[in-house]
Amino acid sequence: MNLFRSIFQFKCPNCRKGSLFVNSNPYKLRDLNKMHERCSKCNLKFSLEPGFYQGAAYVSYGFQVLNSLIVFNLLFWFTNIHWKDIIYYILAFIIILTPYIVVISRSVWIHMFVKHRSKKI
Ligand SMILES: [Zn+2]
Repeated sequence: MNLFRSIFQFKCPNCRKGSLFVNSNPYKLRDLNKMHERCSKCNLKFSLEPGFYQGAAYVSYGFQVLNSLIVFNLLFWFTNIHWKDIIYYILAFIIILTPYIVVISRSVWIHMFVKHRSKKI
């Protein structure tokens, strides 16, 4: 499994086999942010230090800005919607995408700090 598949399928960054999250569907809001304590395959501890995932907020911010720019440019250049009304579409996209952005940001964050070891186990 390559890096991007591992990130987008929320897999362990070390072995790329075990799941990061208890429920891989981010839209099951009750289980949002619930992560396994350790990888079920390689026993990697997912919380590297207390407050480790606070840094994922920066990744989340970047994704939301990127999404907002994409939505704005698509609607501005390819529709007749006034730019002031586009803000409401952007807000709707932000609200709809937030659960997914939260989990993908955590996945990106841990993949930034843990290297893949393909030979392990
Ligand atoms: Zn693992």
